[in-house]
Amino acid sequence: MVYLPDRPLSDDALLANLDSAQAPALLMLTAHVTGEVSVLRPEWRPDLAKLPGGGYAPETATSIRDHCRERLLPLLDSQAEWPELPEDSVRRAICSWLMGEDSEDAQALAEVAFTPDQADPRAADWDLAQVAPERTLRAVVIGAGFSGLLAALRLKQAGVPFTILEKSSNVAGTWAQNTYPNCRTDVPSHVYTYTFVPHDWETYFGTQQAIFDYLNEFALKNGLLEHVRFDTEVTATRWDAASASWTVETRTADGDVSSTEAEVVVSAVGQLSRPLIPRIEGLDAFEGPVVHSAEWDHDLDFTGKRVAVIGTGASALQFAPAVARDAAQVTIFQRSAPWLRPTPELRKPIDPAERWLFAHLNHYRAYYRFSIFLPRLIGNLPAATVDPDYPPTEVSVSAANDQLRMQLTDYLIEQAGDRRDLLEKIIPDYPPAAKRIIRDDGTWVSTLKRDNVRLIGQAVQRIDKDGVWSGDEHVPADIILLGTGFRASEFLMPMKVTGVDGQDLHETWGIDASAYLGITLPGFPNFFCMYGPNTNTVIHGNLVFFLECQAAYMLSAVRLLASGSHTSMDLRPDVFADYDDEVTEESAKRAWGWSKTHSWYQNAAGRSTIMWPLPARTYYERTREVRTDDYQLS
Ligand code: NAP
Repeated sequence: MVYLPDRPLSDDALLANLDSAQAPALLMLTAHVTGEVSVLRPEWRPDLAKLPGGGYAPETATSIRDHCRERLLPLLDSQAEWPELPEDSVRRAICSWLMGEDSEDAQALAEVAFTPDQADPRAADWDLAQVAPERTLRAVVIGAGFSGLLAALRLKQAGVPFTILEKSSNVAGTWAQNTYPNCRTDVPSHVYTYTFVPHDWETYFGTQQAIFDYLNEFALKNGLLEHVRFDTEVTATRWDAASASWTVETRTADGDVSSTEAEVVVSAVGQLSRPLIPRIEGLDAFEGPVVHSAEWDHDLDFTGKRVAVIGTGASALQFAPAVARDAAQVTIFQRSAPWLRPTPELRKPIDPAERWLFAHLNHYRAYYRFSIFLPRLIGNLPAATVDPDYPPTEVSVSAANDQLRMQLTDYLIEQAGDRRDLLEKIIPDYPPAAKRIIRDDGTWVSTLKRDNVRLIGQAVQRIDKDGVWSGDEHVPADIILLGTGFRASEFLMPMKVTGVDGQDLHETWGIDASAYLGITLPGFPNFFCMYGPNTNTVIHGNLVFFLECQAAYMLSAVRLLASGSHTSMDLRPDVFADYDDEVTEESAKRAWGWSKTHSWYQNAAGRSTIMWPLPARTYYERTREVRTDDYQLS
């Protein structure tokens, strides 16, 4: 559902529904439309931690809405003619007001954080048929999840012939695979969306089904489905220097083997697709069902059952509360406690009046989105940064990190209430941002307080045929649920990728996957990764935005290939080495690289191959366009 310009614009519904508008978004919209930046009063600056609402007293929010209503009223009839973008000076003022300072980072990111509905400023603005009509340039995209579909659309817009090879029978990747109860994103729906494809989300945080549907609709509407070969797994891909192309070998679900030639390969295989089955002694001996969160068995009936849950990451915190409602007993084995971020609206529907505004008030959705997106992109990297003089410890790595720790600890104390006995187990013993901070609306600790739930704050020792051992205690179980995460550090496994001179990607990497900007690496020409090494963010970015950056970079590289006389582009080893050194050095300065706690953010050697260690702005600027000098062109 999108903004409808032919709506009777001054109708009563619009005026009434304005009462449901978020005041910060409405103020910025008013400044945009009227050009009057004086509406952005300093005393009306929102609390960044409380967006999109802004944390105002109710009477302040009402005054803001009235103030905006008065200014917008005479302009409502001409809504369809409202300028698409604000004047530069107005945009600067909006940005400074929202962020509370005139930050260059924020100003640089504001241009991508505000996108009018339906605008796609990063769509391909060239066409292969015009740029290089004689040129054979075919692409294979491996994977049809969030990143693969985006890469495919960009290639389609540029007229580059492409095929998407998808190992499962669905598009949507992780959002097709993970169907456990209560599965939803913990990123606000309006920013867990391609910037150029807004959506009428029903909830503040999209459910698995809603995101699955969104991606399916995206694939359908953009004519991508007919390019997908489903149930087709890429087993290997091999560079041939003579033809400057890749041979991509596939195997179907039926076992049929074939190969496809392509000048360009885009790997969009995701990071969270291969379940991590823990190596716990005796797991195979257990006689009941053992189910991983990403391979949920919907026939399981928990009624009257004793269930053991192993792991307390984002997945377990979603499915365990649902299981606890049906099971006789749930015992949760926790190796390390999660930090929780209070999010009261986590499971709440969006007010229908506000959804109405998203559809009928021009730019409202764009400013709603901007209000939560820009602060996210700026994030709070200082709170995740190690201060060597602090001195850093496993409690906190800097004063800012300690402040975050105190805030999050207060929340856990409040949640525990009179169950003080829980505190020792639920307050993490590692610095915040060393791993993902999980959103919570009170469900987790209230689940732990249930009579039929027990939290064991120790790792599992071993498992036998009818239960789980923790220390000397045997906990009987009928079902074991694994919320043990994914083999995220094993990028692109088990696909064999053979580059220049027979170089094997996995031998090159060992356990230390790395790619320039997470996208390219030397010896593997014309090969681009989406969501590759070091492209995740903890409290300083947004995954979908990073995917859009990668797609933009890939597209500009393909354009370079298409428009020049060269047929291959191979990253210069010195460029890669400098980048790799920088990322290694910067990662060690962040809580997730520094801390010794277990996490999927580190590989087996303790190096962070997962997180982007610099500000989001740096990623955005470095990926805007490929730098020809970074590559050997031939
Ligand atoms: P995860 O964050 O890696 O958590 C795995 C859990 O299993 C951790 O508690 C871990 O303990 C434990 N574990 C792993 N191996 C173990 C072993 N051998 N013995 C005992 N415990 C073990 O995995 P996840 O919960 O599936 O989440 C993965 C990522 O998926 C998330 O970080 C997030 O990016 C994404 N995700 C997002 C959402 C959402 O948007 N809401 C939902 C689900 C997943 P340690 O902590 O001690 O390692």
